[in-house]
Amino acid sequence: MNKQQLKDLIIKSIDENRDKIIEIGRGIYHTPEYGYKEYKTTEAVANFMQEELGLEVEKNIAVTGCKAVANENKKGPHISILGELDGISCKEHKDANEIGASHTCGHNIQIAGMLGAALGLVKSGVLDSLDGKISFMATPAEEFIELEYREQLKKKGEITYFGGKQELVKRGYFDDVDMSMMFHSSDCGDSKALVGPESNGFIGKKVQFIGKESHAGSAPHEGINALNAAMLAINNVNALRETFKESERVRFHPILTKAGDIVNVVPADVQMESYVRARTINGMIDASERINRALIAGGTAVGAEVKITEIPGYLPILRYRSMDNLFSNNLVELGIPSNEIIDGGDFTGSFDFGDISHLMPTLHPMVGGVKGALHTRDFEIVDEELAYIVPAKSMAMTVVDLLFDGAKGANEILADFKPVMTKEEYLDFLNKYDKTI
Ligand SMILES: [Zn+2]
Repeated sequence: MNKQQLKDLIIKSIDENRDKIIEIGRGIYHTPEYGYKEYKTTEAVANFMQEELGLEVEKNIAVTGCKAVANENKKGPHISILGELDGISCKEHKDANEIGASHTCGHNIQIAGMLGAALGLVKSGVLDSLDGKISFMATPAEEFIELEYREQLKKKGEITYFGGKQELVKRGYFDDVDMSMMFHSSDCGDSKALVGPESNGFIGKKVQFIGKESHAGSAPHEGINALNAAMLAINNVNALRETFKESERVRFHPILTKAGDIVNVVPADVQMESYVRARTINGMIDASERINRALIAGGTAVGAEVKITEIPGYLPILRYRSMDNLFSNNLVELGIPSNEIIDGGDFTGSFDFGDISHLMPTLHPMVGGVKGALHTRDFEIVDEELAYIVPAKSMAMTVVDLLFDGAKGANEILADFKPVMTKEEYLDFLNKYDKTI
């Protein structure tokens, strides 16, 4: 069989099982769970892989999450297709559950798309003609939220890192993977897809301003006002903003999580959280150091102590054009007009798949079928074919491009490839930003 015949078989299998793929996507949509708590979702994914595809599943790979491998005994390159399990908080959304959790980042779509791609590859019978391994990984905790809960998991020794893919790298789940792919849903406006987005990375910060309490009316001179320290600190950062390079798209967006205790006592304990985001690792480090200086200066001005806890966040996402081109060509083969596929995109948010893009060639397109901004009440799925089915087919077809004919496609990409970081360098980087100043 030639490559086209294999792709046709995949398309046929996915079409024949279209309803099952959409059904699991809808089911997960209605049972959103936050990161490192995706027990029901993991169970649903594992059941599908076991019962529908006959794959052996390893469960709870990082607290939650699961993984299955096809073509396990083949020698060639190992490609991993990922889907993210977690929901996000959006209390305002009509389908949010009783605690405000929702799938307004569309991760349910990714999971169904990953399972659809798996189904296309497994049920069509093409695996024998592909020269490499393919794994399907449902990954936990992409959204960087509920930091207190994750701190508890960390203290109990259940995780080392707050991000699911960070944790999976540390646990060795990417050690034998050569390339990875996934897709994210996005409202692409008049277009259907966006291939090759770039994004910011970030370092997380928790800041505590420690002052001295005193009677706010009768003895303010005996106190040290930690709220004033925090306000000065924010203004100090604002005075720095013009020094950030435009190309770095630096973002510092603090919230005060504690601003005082009672009104007639000078605030002695004020707490802040923020990310420092930028487009490059050097940009993140540079902005983070300047911002630390500005925060500390706010404390110095009023005599307060400033404690900064840094949390390793995510790395900027890198694009691999050779992978992007394969995916775009497959979208065109599926009938998406090439002028409705946007090449490249500038996102100042962050994805934990950015970390994986520093270790191996990756593919991370954004596919439409949804309307409204991510994480908001406006987000909705408006075209299930484009949201679930098209990316499932296109990812499976891209695997054929990579692994057909002695895995010629994958080997060409891997031959000139040098990762930006080794696993050890990556973990050292994370550990360096896991500290209190
Ligand atoms: Zn997302």
